[in-house]
Amino acid sequence: MEPQEFERWSEKAALWGARYRASLRDRPVRAQTQPGEIYRAMPVRPPETGEEMQAIFDDFEAIIQPGMTHWQHPRFFAYFPANAAPVSVVAEHLVTAMAAQCMLWQTSPAATELETRMMEWLRDALGLPESFSGVIQDSASSATLAAVLVMRERALNWQGNRQGLAGQGRLRIYCSDQVHTSIDRAIWVSGIGEENLVRIPAESPIGSMPAEALDAAIRADLAAGHVPAGVIACIGATGTGASDDLSAVLAVAKRHDLYSHVDAAWAGAAMICPEFRDLWQGIEDADSIVFNPHKWLGAQFDCSAHLLRDPDLLVRTLAIQPEYLKTHGQDGIINYSEWSVPLGRRFRALKLWFLLRFHGLEGLRRMIRNHVRWSQALADRLARTPGFEITTPPVLSLFSFRQTGADDAQTIALLNAINDDGRIYLTQTRAAGRVVIRFQAGQFDCTEEDIDIAYRAITDTAQRMSKP
Ligand SMILES: *Cc1c(COP(=O)(O)O)cnc(C)c1O
Repeated sequence: MEPQEFERWSEKAALWGARYRASLRDRPVRAQTQPGEIYRAMPVRPPETGEEMQAIFDDFEAIIQPGMTHWQHPRFFAYFPANAAPVSVVAEHLVTAMAAQCMLWQTSPAATELETRMMEWLRDALGLPESFSGVIQDSASSATLAAVLVMRERALNWQGNRQGLAGQGRLRIYCSDQVHTSIDRAIWVSGIGEENLVRIPAESPIGSMPAEALDAAIRADLAAGHVPAGVIACIGATGTGASDDLSAVLAVAKRHDLYSHVDAAWAGAAMICPEFRDLWQGIEDADSIVFNPHKWLGAQFDCSAHLLRDPDLLVRTLAIQPEYLKTHGQDGIINYSEWSVPLGRRFRALKLWFLLRFHGLEGLRRMIRNHVRWSQALADRLARTPGFEITTPPVLSLFSFRQTGADDAQTIALLNAINDDGRIYLTQTRAAGRVVIRFQAGQFDCTEEDIDIAYRAITDTAQRMSKP
């Protein structure tokens, strides 16, 4: 592509993005396509000769765009948000244009040093002690895998990478039964094995694993000759927001000298507001913490903050050249690829820098506080609406509900009808053995009016369905 053409199409793409964002309120949130539709619209073979940019761009608008679910839609209330604040998109334009590989300090001095500073900014914004240092991982799944590998190596006296797991004792990892599936995968991939993930039932769908039960499980494993290796706690679990009592759970981990990791992938963002920090009281005793600025905070995917009490343990687990340990950090040179499973790294700190400067912590706190307040108000309103019940109370901005007396199939039917309606997008989970509908407010551009539309979309649809 000639430089002039590159310039023209770059401008066009940026302009398209800005107009797309401005148009979202008029579009259905979830894609309304049928499976296979987009696939069949693609030619079977790639072209032998290059095509005109205009034709490619036209097809993008005609075929691809209508097949997308709009994650930046202000009325996206499904899953958790994947916010990409406009200012973070602008930063990503620059990152994409420079397209640097940020694996070593020397391949990306500015990216590396900005990353160090941004992780300090976030650590302080969350109210964590200065003894924590951080690295940006591509996802919470990767951060959790890295933490589990540290648990494995530490428990095997740093011989697991060399010798493998054959002939070692059975490593055991403990968590509540509310944790995200990324924990399962970390256990599979690390070779520890699902059967050695000990799931302690949480006290309630929003509660903690009981510390006494954790302690008893560890003791039983020790008595059986197993090798306890670590504890994974969750704060704001994906289904209904279950949160472990960190003070109690981390005390048990400490007593048994186990490495601890806290998965606060979604809820961590809210910890920039001091009044919500009760939720993770005791966090300063964790060895490893992950939270995703790419969820609620607005730094677009991918951007996962992994904060560590002692990064040497992580580097010792993942560095290819252990002699690097002797100098890391001390001469001002950090090679962040030694802190993560993948070697290659994108420049992820720039969008955080743009985001935090443009909105300021106060701007981001205001957004999060609004979401929490609005979500709680909606839960109250639904609770007062005949025919509805709140099945799990709000944890920050997440709660679940269903129609009173509905069976699982009826709950799914209501959910599908709400999503087909298009005004809002919701997803389901299970709580106390039943299917329930999740609601979370967290989209960057969501307003109080959008919450009102959500109430109407839910109640209108239910009413429509109740008519014979
Ligand atoms: C979203 C989420 C994850 C997974 O995050 P990725 O960055 O997509 O890997 C893990 N744990 C919890 C609690 C989550 O909400």
